[in-house]
Amino acid sequence: MSEKSNRPEAGEGTGHLEDIPTKQNNDDWKNRAPYRSIDKNEKFYKRHTAHCHCGRIKYWLSREKPLAAKFCHCIDCAPFQWAAIFHKEDLHFENGAEGLAFYHAPTKGTHYELPVKVSCSYCHAPIMDEGRNMVLMFPGIIKFNTPEDKKAFDPQCHIFYSQRVVDLPDGKPKWVGLDNGSELMKDVQPHEAETVVGERKIEITDK
Ligand SMILES: [Zn+2]
Ligand SMILES: [Zn+2]
Repeated sequence: MSEKSNRPEAGEGTGHLEDIPTKQNNDDWKNRAPYRSIDKNEKFYKRHTAHCHCGRIKYWLSREKPLAAKFCHCIDCAPFQWAAIFHKEDLHFENGAEGLAFYHAPTKGTHYELPVKVSCSYCHAPIMDEGRNMVLMFPGIIKFNTPEDKKAFDPQCHIFYSQRVVDLPDGKPKWVGLDNGSELMKDVQPHEAETVVGERKIEITDK
């Protein structure tokens, strides 16, 4: 875990996934997961289905449970974002990269370069952040079949909690930056909370 991810600067791109930016000089990425088209003979197990707001973007997840699920409180996700981590191979877009919009925060570019923010180019619903090795999905658009399916996406912790604009005293672990790569913070109860926007109250607890 890198230490530099603990305190991202505003506008720098927070590097949720601790990625080293890489140059992409061609369209090879369209043939890789999660954008590659699945051959008719190749079975992709469609465990979960998701649609963006306008319905133009549809994707499936083959994995029942994310590798991890978190609430992210970083500046980019403000006030906070529910996020679930998957391998790229766990994800398949119905129409590949078609209809997707890309934003590369480090250069403020609207091209495909990792790490990249991916949204629907029409309704602008956030779909995911794609890192070099993993994707961080926003599961709010998944159509869960059962309450148990949704439960598998329950966040285990809060990350970048030092940057929060709202307190969520739910008893779950709260990390200053990335989980396990930073320090834990005290879970402040609502009556004790004195958070002033712009002035970050940091309370570090012993591990
Ligand atoms: Zn859309
Ligand atoms: Zn975030």
